[in-house]
Amino acid sequence: MATGKINVSVENIFPLIKKFLYSDHEIFLRELISNATDATLKLKHLTDIGETDVKYGNPVIEVKVDKEGKKLHVIDQGVGMTKEEVEKYINEVAFSGAEEFLEKYKDSAKDSGIIGHFGLGFYSAFMVANKVEIITKSYKDDQAAHWVCEGTTEFTLGDADKKERGTEIILHINEEDEEFLEENRIQELLVKYNKFMPIPIKFGTKEETLPLPEDAPEDAEAETKTVDNIINNPEPAWTKQPTDLEDKDYKSFYRELYPMQFEDPLFHIHLNVDYPFNLTGILYFPKMTQDMNIQKDKIQLYQNQVYVTDNVEGIVPEFLTMLRGVIDSPDIPLNVSRSYLQADGAVKKISSYITRKVADKLKSLFNNNREDFEQKWNDIKIVIEYGMLSEDKFFEKAQKFALYPTVENEYYTFDELQEKIKDNQTDKDGNLVVLYASNQDEQHSYIEAAKTKGYKVLLLDSPIISHLLQKMESEKEKITFVRVDSDQVDNLIKKDEEKISKLSEEEKEKLKGDFEKVIPKEKYTVQLEAMDSDAAPLLITQPEFMRRMKEMQQTGGGG
Ligand code: ADP
Ligand code: MG
Repeated sequence: MATGKINVSVENIFPLIKKFLYSDHEIFLRELISNATDATLKLKHLTDIGETDVKYGNPVIEVKVDKEGKKLHVIDQGVGMTKEEVEKYINEVAFSGAEEFLEKYKDSAKDSGIIGHFGLGFYSAFMVANKVEIITKSYKDDQAAHWVCEGTTEFTLGDADKKERGTEIILHINEEDEEFLEENRIQELLVKYNKFMPIPIKFGTKEETLPLPEDAPEDAEAETKTVDNIINNPEPAWTKQPTDLEDKDYKSFYRELYPMQFEDPLFHIHLNVDYPFNLTGILYFPKMTQDMNIQKDKIQLYQNQVYVTDNVEGIVPEFLTMLRGVIDSPDIPLNVSRSYLQADGAVKKISSYITRKVADKLKSLFNNNREDFEQKWNDIKIVIEYGMLSEDKFFEKAQKFALYPTVENEYYTFDELQEKIKDNQTDKDGNLVVLYASNQDEQHSYIEAAKTKGYKVLLLDSPIISHLLQKMESEKEKITFVRVDSDQVDNLIKKDEEKISKLSEEEKEKLKGDFEKVIPKEKYTVQLEAMDSDAAPLLITQPEFMRRMKEMQQTGGGG
């Protein structure tokens, strides 16, 4: 038997990195700007703690497209690198200078917002470029360095005559990746990934219209001036303290997030926790409209203000994925599969924290302004009912604010409703019978009949309501939900002795017979009692269980 050693060389790894490290080629720009941001934040930190007396100033990161030269430039004014540092940080694949920095400055740098940590981001440049150059001048060195690599393990490292502090990365874009030489495409990427990053990012210039002076004549042409096109808002609302923000600030941030949304959100929830995990963010309850684009306008996930994804499955409980807003957490492991994510302890804690914050907010809205909460109920009930159905903890908390509207527009909590109906809506087994309608027009005569008898009729019309009612019945003792057009309404109908039918017994029997001839008996029951009410001369009912079976089949099992 022979033993041997498998020889792994860097040459083997390089093409793998290029091909498979990131499935999405477009993220190279996010990685380079993250590095430029880190380099700038490092300099800020070093000047803050007095380790250097270079002037920090107002650094920007600049992105430039050179279409003719087929090059893309990313230029920063951060710490830069000495030749030795290029050897160390760039030539050693998978060595993270960001992690090293955080390790070195531990406590003081923990809130510095440094992004990198895998030591692989830089090499994503080779996904779109066949040649990459680094021209860099460290804040602590007079001599700039020039590194060139053509996508192999060979590189050259020499001197450069760059005068200003910082780093310029030059990508020689592959022929098949020339989309990244289109200004529109780069603008789109910058807006998608870097819109809220902490250092200003400049991409070309734009014309800004100056406001007209007060006394300008009607036909005066507004003057424009050329200004830097700054892509990002370096201080997005979620990074601020809730006490520093007003309602209008939250609304305008909503519009920043979803520029195509013209409807205001109903309310927001500011998330802010730093133990046992770090998470900030703002969630919005949108107004549910017919034309709302659930697919497009979703919750966005960030890490240190860098956009990562709008797939928050596993991180945000499913019933809250209809909400909008941002979540920013450096503690969410992202380079792992979704199923792992759902099992991860930290992620589970994040998910239940979010659920709790949403429940708390709903409760306080209900307590502080019930009228307003009632008005919003129809827009938010889908989320709440779905949450009650899918999360037991939320179900419990929702008992304090979940509302049950009646056909007459009264809104009761379940406790209040119970109080209202306990005296005259029970069946022979002593169960409290909650009557409800699912469609006010179709069930109009049944509703009227029940109202005449003095019953409260709820209007419950969400698509998932039958599942929720099933759950309520199993969670609560001696409660049964019965739809107004069900045969079980009989069980609580006490005949009003005073009322005398306008029809004789003989006439009634004949009428009943006539109806039964045309209605399948095995599916419906023809009722005569209700013939005495003004609204309904006659009731045709369907057994409750049959109707529910059918509904469950239609909406699918989700209980
Ligand atoms: P990470 O960012 O995870 O540390 P990268 O592969 O993105 O790993 O970058 C490797 C290292 O190269 C960084 O940690 C940093 O030390 C150095 N570096 C990359 N880009 C720059 C830059 N623009 N300015 C200064 N240093 C940089
Ligand atoms: Mg990086």
